Amino acid sequence: MQNDILNFTDFLTAQIKEKGPMPLSQFIDFALSHPEHGYYVNRDPLGSAGDFTTAPEISQIFGEMIGAWIVDVWMQMGRPKFHLVEFGPGRGTLMSDILRVASQVDGFTDKVQVHFVEVSKTLKSAQMGELASYEVQWHETMKTLPTDRASIVIGNEFLDVLAVEQLRRASQGWQKKAVNIDEHDALFFDWVDADEALTGLLPSKTASHVIYEVSKPRLDYIKKIAAHLKLKGGAALYLDYGHTRSHHGDTLQALRAHEYVDPLIMAGESDLTTHVDFEPLVNAVKEAGLKSPPCVTQGAFLTHLGIAHRIDALKNYANTIRENGQPDQAEEIIYALDSAYNRLTGAEEMGELFKVMCFYHQDALNPAGFSNDTEAQDGGE
Ligand code: SAH
Repeated sequence: MQNDILNFTDFLTAQIKEKGPMPLSQFIDFALSHPEHGYYVNRDPLGSAGDFTTAPEISQIFGEMIGAWIVDVWMQMGRPKFHLVEFGPGRGTLMSDILRVASQVDGFTDKVQVHFVEVSKTLKSAQMGELASYEVQWHETMKTLPTDRASIVIGNEFLDVLAVEQLRRASQGWQKKAVNIDEHDALFFDWVDADEALTGLLPSKTASHVIYEVSKPRLDYIKKIAAHLKLKGGAALYLDYGHTRSHHGDTLQALRAHEYVDPLIMAGESDLTTHVDFEPLVNAVKEAGLKSPPCVTQGAFLTHLGIAHRIDALKNYANTIRENGQPDQAEEIIYALDSAYNRLTGAEEMGELFKVMCFYHQDALNPAGFSNDTEAQDGGE
């Protein structure tokens, strides 16, 4: 590992010597997805032994809820043949939970073709194991996704891996953050002039002396998905930590083994993320002619979908186990259910910080889980 860090630092230093200060977005891209040094490319970062834990890894109930959402959308679309596309599927846990629920619905299995878009070789082999009994097509980028029919597209903690730039207004004009090297070849964050293409992505009202984050890769990505849905029909669902209204703030974080670390020292060895600003993404899909209800919190979304009823049903099952003479096992299940419910929906846990964005072609009618008067407030950050 020590060698990897040195190699990646050497690589960055050489790049900066050759090309000048490296824009933050380029640094994030290299740190996460460089074919040799990238954080995601050669590892499984998930779970208690990894660097962070995601909702599908907390409990199967999360995937079951998303599965019910997908089945509902598909039914509203008139049960067509369709592509079910997941971006950044991690260990494949979410899709496996989705398909377990959805394949119980008459006709679903015959109509669905599952696609994964994944950069990590390690996670791809985990996905192959997890989804061994299903027919899945893998893609390294979205370029090879089929465009012949409607799609339902999902991404949990995917948008946050797409890089951002950070901008600030200085006396001489807008500047962007860049990684530079000092006279001892040590990396440090510097500021360089920002081009107009970037400042055009800023919110309409801005203040001085604060940092704004803008993400052209996220915007370009979401526009491509929107164009596809507009043409062929379907819906898209994204869950991620972030805010529903653009505002300033530096949210760049590096996580390793569930602890925050210095992004420059642990580059390539830690998960680099920023909060997702959903406002420009929602505006872009509406401009593309799709519908998009106000984003809701993950807590509100799962509650709308009936997570409490699902928990109750599973608790009833635990009670039958108790009655059959296995009280310890019953207690364990009930404890796990309460804990999952709290972690997924609790305001202090994922319930408020995580937001849910949906957009859809009118063929999908009215996806569940959203209601027009409940846009998420950004208080949970
Ligand atoms: N959705 C999963 C994993 C989230 S972590 C879960 O909720 O558990 C981010 C995922 O995106 C990982 O699978 C990672 O390998 C993948 N990823 C990172 N950059 C990517 C890119 N540019 N294109 C596709 N997948 C990417």
